[in-house]
Amino acid sequence: MVRFGILGMAKSGIAAAYKIKELGGKPFLSEFLPKEKIANWQNIVRDFKCEFGGHSDKILNCDTIIVSPGIPLNIPILQKAKKQDINIIGEIEFGFSIKSSDSKIIAVTGSNGKSTTVSLIHHTLLKTGYNSILAGNIGTPFTAFPIEKSGIDFIVLELSSFQLETIKKFKADVAVLLNITPDHLNRYENMDEYAKTKFRIFENQNEDDLAILNFDDKFVQKYKNLIFADKKYFSSKVKKNIVLQNNFLHFSSKNISLKNAILKGPHNIENMMATILALENFNVSKNIFETALQTFSPLAHRLEFVQNIDGISFYNDSKATNTDSVKYALQSFDKPIRLIIGGAGKNEDYTVLNQLIKKYVTKLYIIGNDRFKMKKTFENTVKLELFDNFKNSIITAFSEAKKDDVILLSPACTSYDMFQNFEKRGNKFKEIVRNLRK
Ligand code: ADP
Repeated sequence: MVRFGILGMAKSGIAAAYKIKELGGKPFLSEFLPKEKIANWQNIVRDFKCEFGGHSDKILNCDTIIVSPGIPLNIPILQKAKKQDINIIGEIEFGFSIKSSDSKIIAVTGSNGKSTTVSLIHHTLLKTGYNSILAGNIGTPFTAFPIEKSGIDFIVLELSSFQLETIKKFKADVAVLLNITPDHLNRYENMDEYAKTKFRIFENQNEDDLAILNFDDKFVQKYKNLIFADKKYFSSKVKKNIVLQNNFLHFSSKNISLKNAILKGPHNIENMMATILALENFNVSKNIFETALQTFSPLAHRLEFVQNIDGISFYNDSKATNTDSVKYALQSFDKPIRLIIGGAGKNEDYTVLNQLIKKYVTKLYIIGNDRFKMKKTFENTVKLELFDNFKNSIITAFSEAKKDDVILLSPACTSYDMFQNFEKRGNKFKEIVRNLRK
């Protein structure tokens, strides 16, 4: 049996460790943080050989290291591992190496829209009667499911660029690339390096596989010739394999009505187009597509309607952690917007938002670490105010809002300066809004 080391005790590392144990192996786990910071550390200590508070050379006593997507590949212990020819992979690659050959993989990557699209694909597969699982970056690790057993028709995987950095043979039957817009520029040298990492989703595909691509994306135009799979395109601008006309999506010989579709906004049209193209070869009927679009439960924290108080509507878009998602949010309303923005930035250039802010935003309420950078960027564009307290930004926006205004939290930044994650930020926003009347 291969000797495994697990670097990083986040969800995917722990899932991989338990899977290896189930399959008869004895992985060694290593974590940089002290044990008190790790969920269920008591169980980990009970079930595995492990270390906390730093990575010693013990982890080098193995054949393969499974590294957490949050860990950059250039840290010293991984450099040492590379020198010793230890196989370094991620949990996605490990999952792929053990999965039953019966299950098809539909994998989705992109800067924005991944979670929405994988959820819609999974929902549509379930409506069709397939046994489908939803895994990866969306929440439950790939290897937390019984993927080595047969009986799963489809594995729908959300893949981040970090997860794609550590694949080797991983191959999806259908791979979807939604878009490539500035994100994670604190981890990648430049946009091209980031884009190339995203394109790795196609690297092992062949002509029997399918690639779904956004025709409007400039990196798709630049690198599409590197893809061997059969290609299908969606576009908001030109007629490609799927076309929006009179509130219908037309493709092959079918047309799908969007009349009662739950998802709204131009970005979600793209997500729906990608979903349909990904599934069109799997016997999904027109009726099922329409039912799926009408019964989909939208995900929290993505342009989520919270409440209307005295004619003022509140929307929680806490998952908007980069500028492109904010651009789409600003174009999704036909009312004046008071925008709560800011947080821990990812080294993005905020000037790309200037025009849309000028057009749609009455005032900016700026929070978080990047507030001074944002002030500099927007002070000649729009009225703004800085806050060092999240609650005050919401209360102030509410006290200044007029009937028919929208108060939108769409931060363009991560939440890590003030919250553990974007869910906690969004939940806090909703809690404060729900208490506003009091
Ligand atoms: P991801 O999983 O890639 O972060 P989500 O579906 O969670 O994507 O959405 C993240 C943010 O991006 C939300 O603010 C959402 O409204 C916005 N968004 C969703 N789909 C798209 C898209 N296709 N293009 C741009 N922004 C999008």
